[in-house]
Amino acid sequence: MEKFDVIIMGAGIAGLSAALTAVKNGMHTALVEKESNFGGIAKDCFHTYICGLFKNDNARPFDIANPGICSDIFRFLHKCYGDKSLVKMGKVETLAFIQKDLWGYFFKNLNRDNFIFYGSSKCLKPVSENRKIKKITIIRQHGNQNKEINLAADVFVDATGCAPLSDKSRTNHSQLGGYCFLLQGGLDTDLSLIIPYTARKIVEKYNLNEYLKFVTITYNFLTKNYILKFSVKNSDDMAKCHFIYEKLNKDIKELSGLKFLKASQNIHLRDCNRIEKKTLTHEQVHDTGCAVKSYWPTEKWDIKKGTLYQYCKKDKPFCIPVSALKDDGFDNLFLAGKNINISQHIHASARVMGICIATGEQAIITASNYLKKET
Ligand SMILES: Cc1cc2nc3c(=O)[nH]c(=O)nc-3n(C[C@H](O)[C@H](O)[C@H](O)COP(=O)(O)OP(=O)(O)OC[C@H]3O[C@@H](n4cnc5c(N)ncnc54)[C@H](O)[C@@H]3O)c2cc1C
Repeated sequence: MEKFDVIIMGAGIAGLSAALTAVKNGMHTALVEKESNFGGIAKDCFHTYICGLFKNDNARPFDIANPGICSDIFRFLHKCYGDKSLVKMGKVETLAFIQKDLWGYFFKNLNRDNFIFYGSSKCLKPVSENRKIKKITIIRQHGNQNKEINLAADVFVDATGCAPLSDKSRTNHSQLGGYCFLLQGGLDTDLSLIIPYTARKIVEKYNLNEYLKFVTITYNFLTKNYILKFSVKNSDDMAKCHFIYEKLNKDIKELSGLKFLKASQNIHLRDCNRIEKKTLTHEQVHDTGCAVKSYWPTEKWDIKKGTLYQYCKKDKPFCIPVSALKDDGFDNLFLAGKNINISQHIHASARVMGICIATGEQAIITASNYLKKET
């Protein structure tokens, strides 16, 4: 059985950041991903803006919130596109990017002798002893055949977005999920008001799930593509999104001029099986001992008014403490990305890509500190 220093589960943006940190620190690293390639939600939903990377400080615009890998990625992408990648949207600062460049960055930097990628491989239950995971079984797809492989490690990082190894103590889906369409355009037409307005009328007319009326569209000037995003409650909504899109096409001339390229493969429910045992109160997350700082606003959904944002005050970010990156059940299991233990209230702020990159890095730092104490 192959033995690693660390096994990271999930190759979304958080798992990739964790893997890069581990590899750079000389750890013998395995990254296990159930899909064939990198990217997770950010790839499947055609993301083009990294949120949560900056402090949103008017006095010092585009100042990085968390140094380390966030700074490295920022420098790399900024070098690719220059200042036009720095995009202020309303009150918040984001970084525009092209998918192939971001995943290419990880691909190039992870290409080292101390790294192995297990693609098309699903992590199953762990084997544990005295609160420690000893090994995990993965099912690897090989053509039509599935092969079971056991992998051992000193520490494990769960970046699957759903915390499958942890004790699932709650599932409270209070945040909406997302389902996206990629459209090819090039016209740079501002459809950001007409789309939600028309979607609302369609949802009312056909008596559909009220949350479906929160359809938004963003334009990526780097790729000249539009991303149409539906807010969904469950997987039954997928067919309804296609229905709304057809109706929108009939009503909005500019939209019908865009070419439909593809839809996401999955509905991405935002909460998944996030664990709430170590939930922190709003006051606690402002505590000083934070591993990651988030200046990204929180979101609250209101069926009448849509998303209500709560912005961070200057020098008052939400702080994700080290304890949020540790699992309750296993001493050598660490959490990164959207499945970290954080209070419901700030989850939206802790889940964006910039913060997932930072928690991925910090999960490895926390795991390394644990290993130092053990030896
Ligand atoms: C519709 C939508 C739009 C968004 N827009 C933006 C945006 O514009 N900008 C932004 O910054 N953020 C945005 N976000 C938030 C952000 O995309 C996600 O929170 C972030 O990408 C999550 O990254 P992650 O690595 O934690 O999880 P994921 O991307 O979910 O990655 C988890 C990975 O683990 C794999 N996996 C799961 N289970 C297993 C298993 N058992 N074994 C092996 N592998 C497994 C999955 O296949 C996946 O690749 C958006 C989210 C949604 C839903």
